[in-house]
Amino acid sequence: MDALNDRLSDEDWMARAKELAVSRKGTDPANTPIAAIIVRDGQLLSHGVNRTAEHCDATAHAEVMAIRAAGKSSGEMRFPGATLYSTLQPCGMCTMASIWAGISRIVYGAGRDDVHEMYFEDRHLSTLDFVADAYKDDLTLTGGVLAHDCAKLYYRPWDDVPEDKQAND
Ligand SMILES: [Zn+2]
Repeated sequence: MDALNDRLSDEDWMARAKELAVSRKGTDPANTPIAAIIVRDGQLLSHGVNRTAEHCDATAHAEVMAIRAAGKSSGEMRFPGATLYSTLQPCGMCTMASIWAGISRIVYGAGRDDVHEMYFEDRHLSTLDFVADAYKDDLTLTGGVLAHDCAKLYYRPWDDVPEDKQAND
């Protein structure tokens, strides 16, 4: 069999990210079951889940946790050629962190139109515009992979979320 055929698809990796989110954080949106995994050369490099509440750290988004774990396990700081999979469209901070980490590709599940506006700090600028307008074209984004499955984990656009829960944590 061709070696490339052994590689998992974007859908396969996203399914693994979603499983990780559920196994670590359950399915209640209040517990922010967001997961990210980093894959390089067809191999899992690292993973992370949102730990902002547990660590009292507003920067402990799943993507940042995955980037930190990749550094720890590999002894490297940058990951050219790697793909970061996230169950939810990365915020500006995580997109920027991915750029600094040299990640080549971001693939996400649910997009900002699939979930409540509380998940995004900005009003109009999407991650896609952010990358397209502001940065070199060495980072590509693919959205909507298993979007419907991933979106079920989060508050939806029509959900009436109490004010005190309206933080991306
Ligand atoms: Zn983020």
